[in-house]
Amino acid sequence: MATIYLDHQATTPPDPAVVEAMTFAATHCYANPASPHAAGIRAFREVERARGAVARLIGAARSEICFTSGATEGNNLAIKGVVTPGERRHVVTTAVEHKSVLDSCRSLRAGGHEVTVLPVDAEGRVSAHQVAAALRPDTALVSVMLANNEISTVQPVAEIGAVTRAAGVPLHCDATQGVGSLPVDVRALGVDLLTFSGHKIYGPKGVGVLYVSNDLSDRAPLAPLLHGGGQERGLRAGTVNTTAVIGLGAAVGVLAEHRAEESVRLAGLREQFLSTLAELVPYELNSGTGPGFLPHAVSLSFEGADAQQLLLEVTEIAVSTGSACNSAAQEPSHVLTAAGLSPERIRGSIRVGLGRFTTEEDVVRAARALAAGVTSRAVGAA
Ligand code: PMP
Repeated sequence: MATIYLDHQATTPPDPAVVEAMTFAATHCYANPASPHAAGIRAFREVERARGAVARLIGAARSEICFTSGATEGNNLAIKGVVTPGERRHVVTTAVEHKSVLDSCRSLRAGGHEVTVLPVDAEGRVSAHQVAAALRPDTALVSVMLANNEISTVQPVAEIGAVTRAAGVPLHCDATQGVGSLPVDVRALGVDLLTFSGHKIYGPKGVGVLYVSNDLSDRAPLAPLLHGGGQERGLRAGTVNTTAVIGLGAAVGVLAEHRAEESVRLAGLREQFLSTLAELVPYELNSGTGPGFLPHAVSLSFEGADAQQLLLEVTEIAVSTGSACNSAAQEPSHVLTAAGLSPERIRGSIRVGLGRFTTEEDVVRAARALAAGVTSRAVGAA
């Protein structure tokens, strides 16, 4: 029987419309979009069409969209591009950011800058008040994610945006996990920089978006990480990955049309998953399921379980554990740790993320398979 894929925070399968658009692009838009001949102009038009779709999705202007290789690059470019090496400046971020944000900040620290990492509450949330209290006259940037990839917490970015706007400090938001389920409007959020990735929204891997407000570009242009042919308005040199960008444009088109109803459907399926599981085996929730959390995902722990072992045995489903989120790293998740969970609870934690192709049958089967795995391990251990 096919694996039930419930690891949509890690990556999403491409939508059929994306595969179709990329096949078209690879076949017909192979010319360099910077070339002045007819084939190049055709590729250029398709890239710009994708840029327009992305801009519309987040309420930005086309000139504010820079294509990158993904959210990791976008986060690095946003953070290192604003905080220039010469002057010693201060950056504010949170303890639950993705490693591409935390490690970018860490590299700034190694270069002599100061970084304030704000703690979070038990739900994994920071407040606008905490951000306001952390600001200093030399603060160059605040970076807060839209929604967390492990515990689904949605941060109060619009409230934080009001604080940073009033203080004249640029705000960066890693929206990689939120943009697939929540409405995102850069002006309503009050962000100057916003990042996301194609492969979390049923688009291709290796492509992403960095939004840079025209206002910020006028005041203090970002320093690029890559220098060369001046593509993407000089912000990101290198021949544009036309096929991936066109695929991303198609992914954004499908998302814009179905996001709202899909979020409702997935919240219902998550409820069904949790109630089926609850009838079979006890568990503790590590993430909320109400407003203020992503609708399609949940983190939970089985008491006394070793989630890594469990998932090796329950081969019918693909989900992640909370203990080894970064490649081969065996260290407990920094997010669950920051939210105050004990090492034992983290050891027994799994992260379940439903997606566009998840069915009612999938969630019921997944809950039964998980419960059977937990029960048989508990019996085996007794
Ligand atoms: N930010 C968040 C919140 C993420 O979940 C991820 C992917 N796990 C990234 C950034 C990095 O994205 P990419 O794989 O596109 O580099």
